[in-house]
Amino acid sequence: MMMDETAAAPRAAATWPNRFRGLGDAFFTALPAEPLPDPHWVATSASCAALLGLPPDWTSRADLDALHVLSGQGRWPGMTPLATVYSGHQFGVWAGQLGDGRALWLGEMDTPAGPLEIQLKGAGRTPYSRMGDGRAVLRSSIREFLGSEAMHGLGVPTTRALCVTGSALPVRRETIETAAVVTRVAPSFIRFGHFEHFAHHDLHAELRQLADFVIAHHFPACREAANPYAALLEQVALRTADLMADWQAVGFCHGVMNTDNMSILGLTIDYGPFGFLDAFDPGHICNHSDSQGRYAWARQPNVGFWNLHALAQALLPLIGDSDLALAALEPYKTGFADALLARWRAKLGLQTREDGDRELVDDLLRLMAADRCDFTITFRRLGRFATAGGADDAVIRDLFIDRAAFDGWATRYAQRLAREPGTDAERTVRMDRVNPKFVLRNHLAEVAIQAAQGGDFSATERLLQVLQRPYDEQDDAATTAYAGFPPEWAQSIEVSCSS
Ligand code: AMP
Ligand code: MG
Repeated sequence: MMMDETAAAPRAAATWPNRFRGLGDAFFTALPAEPLPDPHWVATSASCAALLGLPPDWTSRADLDALHVLSGQGRWPGMTPLATVYSGHQFGVWAGQLGDGRALWLGEMDTPAGPLEIQLKGAGRTPYSRMGDGRAVLRSSIREFLGSEAMHGLGVPTTRALCVTGSALPVRRETIETAAVVTRVAPSFIRFGHFEHFAHHDLHAELRQLADFVIAHHFPACREAANPYAALLEQVALRTADLMADWQAVGFCHGVMNTDNMSILGLTIDYGPFGFLDAFDPGHICNHSDSQGRYAWARQPNVGFWNLHALAQALLPLIGDSDLALAALEPYKTGFADALLARWRAKLGLQTREDGDRELVDDLLRLMAADRCDFTITFRRLGRFATAGGADDAVIRDLFIDRAAFDGWATRYAQRLAREPGTDAERTVRMDRVNPKFVLRNHLAEVAIQAAQGGDFSATERLLQVLQRPYDEQDDAATTAYAGFPPEWAQSIEVSCSS
C-alpha cells in the first residue's frame, strides 16, 4: 500500500476526535510517517487490541490492512499524523528543545474505554529528531512492547503497546541492527516537558491553552478549584506519588527519569533502559549510561519530586504565586509515604496498621539488601510463611545468608501476623495478588530478543502471555522457568539509552 493511502476504519463507527490537534500549530508539526519497508508482524497484544475495540482478527483483516498502517505505510480514515514539541531536563540539566524525534502521533480514536491516542515509535525522522535517525531497533521495540504490557499486567499505570512491526531495514547503533515500530496507546502522551517548553519560551498563552486542555480532558475537577492550575499541579503530584510507590513495590527501575519522560497522567512512559530488580540492591542502576546513578532504584521517588518542581516552575506563570505552587507539591510527601507503606503492608500480607510496620519492612529490606536476596522471589515466597513455623519457611529462610538475622526478623513477623485476622491460607491468596511471580527480567527479554533477531517471534509471544498474568501461579513446567533466579550471564547484560 502506498503511503497516505487510506485503509478501512478499524471499527465501522470509529471516530477520531483528535483533540490534541485542535490545540494548533504551536504544539506540533504535521507530517507523515517514513514507512518501514517490507514490514512484518513481530508481536501483538490481544488485550490492548480489545481495549481499542478492534475485532479479534484485526491483524489479518484485509480491509484494515493493519500491518501497513502500523508500520507507517498507510492510514485509517481519521488519522492525522503529527510530531509534538516539548523540552525538558535531562539528568538534572536543562536540555532545551527535544520533542517527538521518532514518535508520531497518529490521532485519537474513540474506543469503548474512551478516547485513546495512538502513536508510532520509530516511524522516521521529524523536525525534532536532532541528530537521530527517527528509528527504533527491534531489540528496544520488543523491550518497550513487553515492558508496557507487563506493567499493565502488574496493575501499574502505563502507556500500552498494541504491537511491534519489523523490517530488514538496517539501523546503526553500536552495531548494525534492524528497524521496528512500536504502536503505543494512551489517553494522552503529554509530558512535563510539554509545559516546560512553553514556559521556557515565555509563551504564556500557549502554556495556558495546554493546561486548560489537560484540565478539561483529564482533570475536570480542577476547574472548580480556586486556582485550577495549582489544583492541576497537586493532582499530578499525587498521581506521580502513586506511580513512584508502584515502581518501588514491584521493583521497577525506569532508567531515564528525565522530565521529558514524565507523563502528566502519572503513567509509566518511554521504556528505554528500564529493568526489574533481581538481587536486591537499593542502589541498583539499570541504565548503563547513568554513570552517577541519578536514577538508581531507591532514588526514583526523590527524582519524581524533583521533576515535579520542574513542572511547578513551568506552571508558575499560570499559578501566579510561588508559595501556592510549593504548597501544591506538599501532598507528594505524605501521598508517597502513605502509598508506599500501604503497598509494603500489602506485600507482607498485613491488613491492619500498626506503628512498627514501617520498621518491620525496613528491617526486611535491609536483610534482603545485605544478602542480595532476589526481590521478586523473596516476596513471593514470603506469601507461604507459616505463622506456626513450618517446613515451608525453609524456602524463605534459605534465601538469606545470615540465617540468624532472618530468624530474628521472622519471629517479629510471626508475632505481628498473630495480631492479624484470618488464616495463613487466606494471607497467601492476598499476598499472591500483590507479590508477582513473574516480572520482565532482563534475561527473559534478552532470550526473546535474540530469538526474534533470528526470525522466531514465538518466545516474545510466550513471554507476553506469561507477563499478562504475573500474579497467577501458572505452574506448568514450561512457565515455571520464567519465575526462576536469573542465570549468571544476566549480570553481564548492559542496557543503555542507545535504542
Ligand atoms: P529518550 O532518551 O529516548 O527519552 O529521548 C530523548 C529525545 O531524543 C527525545 O526527543 C527523542 O524523541 C529523541 N530521540 C531518541 N532517539 C532518537 C532517534 N533514534 N531518532 C530521533 N530522535 C530520537
Ligand atoms: Mg523520551
